[in-house]
Parts: sequence; C-alpha cells; structure tokens
Amino acid sequence: MNAHHRLRLSSWLLLGLLLLSLSTWADSRQLDIAQPSQQPLSLTTHVGILEDASRTLTLEDVRSAEMAGRFRYEQASSASFALGFTRSAYWFRLEVGNSSAEAVTHLLVVENPRISIVDAHIPDEQGGYRAWYTGADRPQTAKAYDNRNFVFALSLPAHSQQVVYLRVESSIGLLVPLQLWSVDAFHAYEREDYMARAGYMGIAIAMILFNLMLFIALRERIYLLYVTFVLCAVCALTIKNGMAPDWTLAGLPLNSNVAYYSAASLALSGMLLFMRSMLQTARLLPQVDRGLLALIALYLISPLIYAAALPQVSRVAILVYLLTAFVMMGVGLACAIKRQRSAYFFLAAFGLLILGGATTTLRALGILPTNAFTEDGLQIGSSLEMLLLAFALADRINVMRRDKLQAQAALLQTQEQLVETLQRSERELEHRVAERTEELQALNSRLETLSLTDALTGIANRRHFDEVLEKEWKRAQRLSEPLALAVLDVDWFKAYNDHYGHPAGDSCLQQVARTLVSLSRSTDLVARYGGEEFVFLAPATSLDGARHLAEKLVQAVEALALSHAGSPLRCVSISVGVAAMCPGLDDLPQTLLQQADAALYRAKSQGRNRVEHG
Ligand code: GH3
Ligand code: MG
Ligand code: MG
Repeated sequence: MNAHHRLRLSSWLLLGLLLLSLSTWADSRQLDIAQPSQQPLSLTTHVGILEDASRTLTLEDVRSAEMAGRFRYEQASSASFALGFTRSAYWFRLEVGNSSAEAVTHLLVVENPRISIVDAHIPDEQGGYRAWYTGADRPQTAKAYDNRNFVFALSLPAHSQQVVYLRVESSIGLLVPLQLWSVDAFHAYEREDYMARAGYMGIAIAMILFNLMLFIALRERIYLLYVTFVLCAVCALTIKNGMAPDWTLAGLPLNSNVAYYSAASLALSGMLLFMRSMLQTARLLPQVDRGLLALIALYLISPLIYAAALPQVSRVAILVYLLTAFVMMGVGLACAIKRQRSAYFFLAAFGLLILGGATTTLRALGILPTNAFTEDGLQIGSSLEMLLLAFALADRINVMRRDKLQAQAALLQTQEQLVETLQRSERELEHRVAERTEELQALNSRLETLSLTDALTGIANRRHFDEVLEKEWKRAQRLSEPLALAVLDVDWFKAYNDHYGHPAGDSCLQQVARTLVSLSRSTDLVARYGGEEFVFLAPATSLDGARHLAEKLVQAVEALALSHAGSPLRCVSISVGVAAMCPGLDDLPQTLLQQADAALYRAKSQGRNRVEHG
C-alpha cells in the first residue's frame, strides 16, 4: 500500500515537473530511465493506449504517424489499466529515454499472468524490432523472461531513446498493470513474491494432508470434501498466479484460462458440497439444498462450457461466482439463525474468503484499484478461510467427543441408578422377609407353647407329659435309673364346684398347680393330666424319695387352707398315688401309670388327703 502510495505521489510530482517544463507533447511523454529506482514505477500515465476493436492492426499500422496521434494518455496515475471484459485488442506505446552516459537495462513487467495475449515489440540494436509473442494462451516457453508474470528487458545505450509497443487481448477480464522495475529491485521482489506463494502452498498442503489423514482415520465424508475443495482451490489459485505448468489434454494444449475457470468451478462445487455437509442443509433447509445441488451440477459441467466459449461466458461466469458467494453467505446466515454451531465457523471463514474474493473480482471489473491487498485478496482470504474451516472440523471432533462423553456419562448414571434401585428394593425385600420370619417364629413358638401348655394353669399339659414320660422312660431304661411318678387328684372337687361355683373351682385348681410347681425340682415335671387330676414325674427318684415328696405335696396343699365346705376336712386336700420303678427293656410306661393310679384309688378309698404307693 505504502509503496503504491509513494508511487502515486512520485507520479504526480513527475507529471507536475513535466507540465512545468512546457516541452513538446512527444518530449513530455518520454520517460527518462537513466536513474535506477528501488521502487516499481507504474506506467499508466506514461503509456499511450489505443483500442483495436477489430484486432487487425499490425506493428507497422500503429507505428505510422497517423496512428501515433490516436494513442490516448491517462491523466491520473493508477496501478493498472482496468479495461473490463472486452473482445478488443489494445496497443500500448511507451517512449523511454536514457539521458546518462551509461547503458541501462530495466524490466517492463505486465503483472497479470491471466492476460490471454501479451505481445511485446522491443527495438533491437539493428534499429528494427524484436517481437515476443507471449500470454496465458501461449506456452510458458515463449516468455522473454521466466517469471509467473510477463517480463521484458528494456536495454538502452547511453544517450538513446526508443519506443516500445505492447499488444494485449484477453478472453477473460482485461486488467493490465504495467510497471517499470530496476533489475535488482525486481529480483528482490521476485524472491519475496515466490516466498509468499510458497507459504500459501505450505498452509494448503498441510491442510490437505491433515484432513486427508482425518478422513482415513474417521471415515467421515466431510473431511474428503474439504480436501477436494482445498485441492481445487489451490489448483485455481496456482493457475491464476501463473505458476501452473503448461497442461495438455489428449495431446492438445489446455488453455490456461479455461483451466483457471474450470478449477475455480470445481473448487466452488467442492466448497458447496462441503458446506452442505457441514451445515447439514438437507435437514435444515431441504428446499435450498435442492437448489444447491442444481448449482453444483452446473459447476460440474461448466468446464465444457468454458472449453467451448470462454470469451463469451467469462463475464457471466464471474457474475455467477459472485451470486454463489451471496447464496453461500445466505445459507450460512440461515443456518446460524437456526443455531447451527458449525454455521458460526462457516460464516467467519467464509466472510474472510468473500472479502478476498470480492476484492479480486471488483479489481477484475475495474472498480477497485490494484494493490497488494486487492491483488492477493483471494489468496489471503482463502488461507484464513482454510485455517478457520480446519479449525471448525477440529471443533467438530471436539463436539463429537464431548457428546460421546456426555452419552457415556448419562448411560453410566442410568446404570448406577438402576443398580441403586435394585439394591434398595433388595434391601427392602430382605428387611420384609426378616420381619415376616420374625413374626412367623414368634407365632410358631406361641403355637408350640400353646400346644404343650395347659391353658388354665399355665403348667405342662397332658401331651407334654406324655412326651416327657416317653423320653424319661427311655433314659431310665438306658441308665437303669428309677423313675418315680405321682398321680394327684383333688378331693371332693365336684362338691367344691357345686358349692363355690365353677370359676372358684378354676381358681382353686390354679393355686394347687402353683403349689405343686413350687415344690418340684428342675428335673421334675408337673403336668395337669385332666380335670382336677395332676401328675408329678420325678426322674432318678426311688419310691421312698417319691413317697417323701408326695407327703410334702399333700401337706403343702392342706397348708394352703382353702375353705371347702363339702369336705370333712373343711379345706381343700389332695390324694396321691405314687409308683416308682427301674424300667426293664420290655416294660412300658403305662405300667407305671397304672401302678400310680391304683395307689391313688387306694388313697381315695382309705380316706383321702393321703399318699399311697404301688
Ligand atoms: P373324689 O375325687 O374325692 O372321689 O371326689 P370328686 O368330687 O373329686 O370326684 P370326681 O372325680 O367325680 O369329680 C371331679 C369333678 O371335678 C367333676 C368336675 O365338676 C370337676 N372338674 C373337673 N375339671 C374341672 C375344671 O376344669 N374346673 C372346675 N371348676 N371343675 C372341674
Ligand atoms: Mg377326679
Ligand atoms: Mg377328685
């Protein structure tokens, strides 16, 4: 920018000086190149321009005195002649002089590799002209100097002057930046220029390889689309910059402007395919998506159209490219409004590319001036765009990973909740089972007690007694020990009931039972045998011991002194029949019972309140 600014200033100064000198027209046009400059000199105000609409004029024609007067001169300096989309050929006439005593060589640079035809007619030492027929439509080998642009050496002997003619024409937009460089300055510029382009290439190749590897690793189509897009974009820019080699198709040379436009179309279709995939337009904007597919199809067949009629369609093509840019911007905005995360990246990336593309296009249309930014706008924009899109793809991986982690976490949480619920219900179940078991146990033991205990007196019942008798009988048999049994019966009890009533009789039975239990040892068993009859089983007890115990029982009941009006004793008493035996192997417990019973019978008959033994 600075360089060009200075350039414009110096041109103005030069123009002022020239006007002040009041020289003749011809003299005022002549450019003295004796002083070498480190800055390129834009030639727009020094060069006469002549339109040749029929493209038929020859060098002889334009050199004629008549034609010389028809060359027009620009009043204001600019970086280039912006001639737009024209089918005309243009002639440029440059008068240069060397006022110094030394021979000088300068370089005439046409800094636009896309001009179809650039013919230079430069005076030779013999006073004639040497012609260079170059241009984008001609092979690279035709170039006077091997550079991506069109460069011609102007050599002027000491105190000499000459007139140089250039003829240009183009099948696409015609933009002619004409500059004069000193050889050293141009070589320095050349190095920087190639470095910048190599840098861009480096970024592009890195992006291509990186995303190709991502595609191989992840097998996601979007990475391949990105790679395709970048590859085509790099191709288009390489051709645009005049750095592509001469291509042939089936033995025929491939027109480089056709190749340029075709590569641009393929890059755009790649970009559209990438955008569709990235923004998921088929889902978000189904109708727009169909339109995008139609546009992609048009771009894919466009190389055929370019091959057939590039000069006729190049202007329309540029407009379609511009339109496509607006469509992409619109789609990006629509998806961003629908809160599509990728759309934000896309818009930012695309905004940069649009900016670059728009500057390049507007420069091609002659609306914007040529400078470092407008010239390389597309390249700068596309580098930044590539980087941002790669960043967006990386972000995609991030989002995918985050989604996966979230899904895993959610799954884990669900599983944990399930396990916890299961554990809780298991615990509840265990708890309930324990409760039920406890209840059942309590119930069982209650049932057991109920079945072995006499309800009225709370002492063992007849069933219990029968079981114990059986057990003790076997034990006595085994140990050859004596087993004693006393059968007790309350005397005159019917009369007691009759006199005092049945409830009083119950209470009397309870008191008798308590008395019997109080006198029993831990190994003895007192049981209610039925009605007002009780049994007293005493293991390992002899008949004497049993008799003695029975006496005590009789005395204890008498000592209770419970009034009994129906008894001659006037108090409640019992009669006891005692028996004891060491049971033999063939003996049955019934024998013991019968003996005790018989003894009780005797006790009754002998007056009651006494003990008899079997
Ligand atoms: P003894 O034995 O002295 O010959 O005369 P007894 O009156 O006791 O004779 P018996 O064996 O015929 O009478 C038993 C009475 O005991 C009959 C019944 O009314 C009474 N009895 C039996 N079981 C119960 C009972 O559970 N409660 C009450 N209150 N009385 C009962
Ligand atoms: Mg009785
Ligand atoms: Mg009785």
